[in-house]
Amino acid sequence: MQKFQQYIDGGFSDGAAQFESRDPATGQVWALMPEARRDDVNNAIEAAERAFNSPEWADMTATARGKLLMRLADLIAENAGVLAKLETRDTGKIIRETSAQIAYVADYYRYYAGLADKIEGSHLPIDKPDMEVWLRREPIGVVAAIVPWNSQLFLSAVKIGPALAAGCTVVLKASEEAPAPMLEYARIFDQAGFPKGVLNVITGFAAECGAVLTSHPKVDHIAFTGGPETAKHVVRNSAENLASTSLELGGKSPFIVFEDADIDSAVNAQVSGIFAATGQSCVAGSRLIISNKIKNVFLEKLAEKAAAVVIGAPDDMATEVGPLCTIAQRDTAVNLIEQSVEAGAVVVAGGAPLKRDGIFFAPTILDCSNAHGAPCLTHEFFGPVLSVLGFDTEAEALALANHTEFGLASGVFTRDLTRAHRMIRKLRAGIVWINTYRAVSPIAPFGGHGLSGHGREGGLQAALDYTKVKAVWLRTSDDPIPDPFVMR
Ligand code: NAD
Repeated sequence: MQKFQQYIDGGFSDGAAQFESRDPATGQVWALMPEARRDDVNNAIEAAERAFNSPEWADMTATARGKLLMRLADLIAENAGVLAKLETRDTGKIIRETSAQIAYVADYYRYYAGLADKIEGSHLPIDKPDMEVWLRREPIGVVAAIVPWNSQLFLSAVKIGPALAAGCTVVLKASEEAPAPMLEYARIFDQAGFPKGVLNVITGFAAECGAVLTSHPKVDHIAFTGGPETAKHVVRNSAENLASTSLELGGKSPFIVFEDADIDSAVNAQVSGIFAATGQSCVAGSRLIISNKIKNVFLEKLAEKAAAVVIGAPDDMATEVGPLCTIAQRDTAVNLIEQSVEAGAVVVAGGAPLKRDGIFFAPTILDCSNAHGAPCLTHEFFGPVLSVLGFDTEAEALALANHTEFGLASGVFTRDLTRAHRMIRKLRAGIVWINTYRAVSPIAPFGGHGLSGHGREGGLQAALDYTKVKAVWLRTSDDPIPDPFVMR
C-alpha cells in the first residue's frame, strides 16, 4: 500500500494519525494518508507565520518570487504525468481530463509568476499642500487555503499562485476524500527552492483540522472552495480570527438553448457541460432550459449521446465518463432522483447507479417540464444528472434561469446577437458563456454570488485580493509643525 506524508516547514512527516484512501473505481483501499490533528495544524500555521516574517521571504524582491513561481510551473509541467495518474487513482477523475488539466495548471503558475512584479501601489492627488500620499500594496499575511477533492491541483493553483505572487504564505488543506495529488505536489513544490514554511500542505477532517485552521488567530485570509453548507461553518469559524474570506462554492447553472441555435454544437456542449468529469464540476450545466420548438429533437440527440458515452476505468484513455468519487454522492443522486420522479419528473435516460464494481452512475436526463417543484432543479447533484425545462419565450427562459439561489455560471446558445446581449445583461451569474461552455483561463476571473460564494479566482484581481493597502503620508515641508494649542 502506498503511504503519503504531510509537508510542514519544509519537512515531510506522518501526521498525528493516519487514514485509508479508497480507489473509487474499485472500492479498494489503496493508500495511507497523514491525518493532521490540532498540533499539526498549529505547527503548519506557525511555520507559515515564521516564513511570512522571515527575511528570506519578506525581503525577497517580487521579481525573485516570480522566478520561483516560474520554476514551480516548469516542475509541474515536468511531473504532469505522475500528478495526473495520482489524481485519477484517488478521485476516479478520468485520465484524459486530469492529464489535460494538469498541463494547463502549469500555465496558471506561469501567469502568476509574470504578475508577481506587476502588483503596483498608487499615488494619490491629495487635497492638502506639502503632502505626498501613496498606497503600498502589501501581502495580506498567512492564508488558509481549503480545497475540495475534485480538481485539487487546479483549485489550489488559483490560490497558491496569486497568494505567493503577492508575497503571502500558505497552509493548504487537501481534501480528506482524495489528498494524494496534493501531497505529491508538495514533494514537487519542495524542489522549486522557496524558503521553508512558505507553503505547507496538510490534510484532515472537518471537526479538528478544518476547524483549527479556519479559526486560528494567526490566519489572515481563508480561501475556500467547497459546498455552501461547509462554507457556512468556515465563515462561523472565522468569527474567531476575523480573517477575510473568499468562497468558491457550488452551482446549479442554467444551460439555455434557443430555437435558432446550432443544435449539434449545443448538444456537444451540453454533453461536456454535464457529463464531463462525471458531472462533478462546480460549473456543471445541470439545468437545460430549452425552447419548446426544438426540445424533442434536442433531447433525442442528447439521449443518444448519453447512451453512447464510454463509461469505464478512469485510467483508460478511451474512457469518457468515470466513477463518482464518493458513495455519499451516489446516495444523494439516488434519493434526489427518487424524490424528483415522485414530483413528476420523467427519466429520459439513465436514472440509477450502474451494476458494476466501483461507484458508477448512468448519465441521466430528467424532463421536469411538468415538475417545476422537483428537487433536482434546486439541489446540486455533483454527478452526471441533467434536469430539463422547456420554455416558449425569452422572458420565460430568463426567469427560469435566474430561479436559483446559486449564481456561478450560465450558458446561452443562440445565433441572435442582440438577444445574446440582452441575456448577458440580465443573467445573474459570475460567468456567462455564449455559444460555448466550460471554458476557463488564468487570465479570466472565475467566481459567483449568492450560494455560489463571493470573491474571484483567476485574473489580475485575484492577486490583488491577496494584498492589503497601506496608506503612507509624507510631509514635504521643512517648516516646523506649528504648536496646535497656540491660537492664531
Ligand atoms: P466540501 O464542502 O464537503 O469540502 C470542501 C473542503 O472543506 C474539504 O477539504 C473539507 O475537508 C473541508 N471542510 C469540511 N468541513 C470543514 C470545516 N468545518 N472547516 C473547514 N474545512 C472544512 O465539498 P466537497 O464535497 O469536497 O466538494 C464539492 C463541492 O465543492 C461542491 O459543492 C462543488 O460545487 C464545490 N466546488 C466549487 C468550485 C468553485 O470554484 N466554485 C470548484 C470545485 C468544487
